[in-house]
Amino acid sequence: MPEWGEKRQWEWEWYDEGYKMNPEYYLPLSYLNAWEYCPRRFYLEYVLGEMAENEHIVLGNHLHRNINEAGVTQEGDTVIHQQQWVWSDRLQVSGVIDAVEERSGELIPLEYKKGKMGRHLSDHFQLCAAALCLEERTGKTIPQGEIFYHANRRRQPVVFSPELRQMTEEAILAAQLAESRPMPAPIDHKTKCHACSLQGICLPFEMKQLRS
Ligand code: SF4
Repeated sequence: MPEWGEKRQWEWEWYDEGYKMNPEYYLPLSYLNAWEYCPRRFYLEYVLGEMAENEHIVLGNHLHRNINEAGVTQEGDTVIHQQQWVWSDRLQVSGVIDAVEERSGELIPLEYKKGKMGRHLSDHFQLCAAALCLEERTGKTIPQGEIFYHANRRRQPVVFSPELRQMTEEAILAAQLAESRPMPAPIDHKTKCHACSLQGICLPFEMKQLRS
């Protein structure tokens, strides 16, 4: 069985200590991004199953259309593993990394984002969580990853510092705990709310008016 890369299909697996939850049911890495963007968005999507599209979602899906196939290619000295399934039993998170590049024996997780560089720390948490999964699967230390931002067509290196690792683990735990708690109130962030596809369901501005 590969240590990473092949999506597992079965629901339960036998371990020395007994049956354990299948990684398919761990917190998806993509929802960690939603959590960092807005806890209410995370709750609406992950807990209540609400989905809605806007131009940002459609564009993001469009940009991913060419990288949604698992496979291995080589460019010069770099081996590129596309669409790699990873998970962490310790953190109970799982998901698909857009690509993992292998250079000189080093693994570099890579995510593609439609936005501009440095806009949201949520991208860093998602990538760092993916790296933590990859480290657990391979036993290798992953010092950094990269995010390709389509809007300025540049790659941003993301160093997995002790601080980022700790913040990521805290975000994972907080998101997992949020599942059993009441729905969070809307955030006070006009820019994020205007860009959010769930605005019509969440009604943040109407709720703010009601509260004032
Ligand atoms: S509209 Fe604003 S408060 Fe509501 S889910 Fe989206 S980002 Fe969060």
